Amino acid sequence: MSESSVAQGRRRERQAGRVERMARERRGIALYRERGEEIEHVKGRTWAVPSCSGEGVYLVDLGAETCGCPDFASRGENCKHVYAAAIASAKSECCAGCGKKVRRREMRGAGPENLTFFEDDTLCPSCAVAHGVA
Ligand SMILES: [Zn+2]
Ligand SMILES: [Zn+2]
Repeated sequence: MSESSVAQGRRRERQAGRVERMARERRGIALYRERGEEIEHVKGRTWAVPSCSGEGVYLVDLGAETCGCPDFASRGENCKHVYAAAIASAKSECCAGCGKKVRRREMRGAGPENLTFFEDDTLCPSCAVAHGVA
């Protein structure tokens, strides 16, 4: 094999890897669209992401970029669950009450009347109820 065909082979491999990553990213976006409501923040940078079939949940660590699914175990590369969790994380904010990350549109502002939180603190729905925020 000549030098250039080795280089060509490497280039093809890199390109195939990139195409595969893009396909996974697209599947991650699709998973978020379909089951985004079920993606839940666990703690720290860990998220629970439902499988595509809805049977079972995989734990994704966005810090280490790992996932508990078989696809990740066999390839060791970002799977669709990692991408879906990253989207959920980007669309979420930390609740001032419980510290959980909740989708921004579900959060409530604590408001000026609240004695426990600052005016611009945001609360998840259950903390909002617990602290009497309308
Ligand atoms: Zn996965
Ligand atoms: Zn909360």
